Amino acid sequence: MNEKNNKNIGCSCVDCGILNCAKRTGQYPEFCPTAELTEEEIDQVTDLYKNNRVNKKIAVAAAEIEGGFYGRYTRVEEIVEFARRIGAKKIGIATCIGLIEESRIFARILRLNGFEVYGVSCKSGSVNKTDIGIDKKYTCVTGGVMCNPILQAKLLNKRKVDLNVVVGLCVGHDSLFYKYAKGITTTLITKDRVLAHNPAGALYQSKAYYKKLLMAPVGENVVCSVTQADKT
Ligand code: SF4
Repeated sequence: MNEKNNKNIGCSCVDCGILNCAKRTGQYPEFCPTAELTEEEIDQVTDLYKNNRVNKKIAVAAAEIEGGFYGRYTRVEEIVEFARRIGAKKIGIATCIGLIEESRIFARILRLNGFEVYGVSCKSGSVNKTDIGIDKKYTCVTGGVMCNPILQAKLLNKRKVDLNVVVGLCVGHDSLFYKYAKGITTTLITKDRVLAHNPAGALYQSKAYYKKLLMAPVGENVVCSVTQADKT
């Protein structure tokens, strides 16, 4: 762990090599958030699943899908199954306009499965980026119309959809959508323009083609140290 960057918050699950909360075969590490909890604190949270009808329905459906279709269903199929199990009738798609084709296909699949679908693109409202203070220089490559995730959320809220599905919203735009969406939301596609919307690819390749991610902060050049052996 980089102590310098983490001195105020301490170690946590990302620093744990034991994972005893899942295995229950050994000891919890001294910094473990599970070990820090009282029985009462755990019970209070467990009650939020047991005693809240919506939370219970969602948690049970999610666990049933995980357990029932493990390694067999794609995320598309899992979302269809999830929507069925929570009794959703209307599904909202909050889509990036760059992934409109993917959203059209997804809408066809959902309709084939008996759902009503209402999709809203990120450019809906057609507001200028400069109207909210975005510098004009950031419009050259990507155009002048801003992504409008708050409007996407409000339009889907107005349609009273039972489940929102995010398709490829940009980082940060997705944050605003999640903040303003009233209904529950899941994500089909997380945008990564470089890795064909597979952001985990950078992590899987962090010991090979993306090792720069572990060598220097993002945006800084990796210092190349060539040894004598490398030169020969
Ligand atoms: S809860 Fe405790 S045991 Fe589980 S991963 Fe976190 S630190 Fe490790």
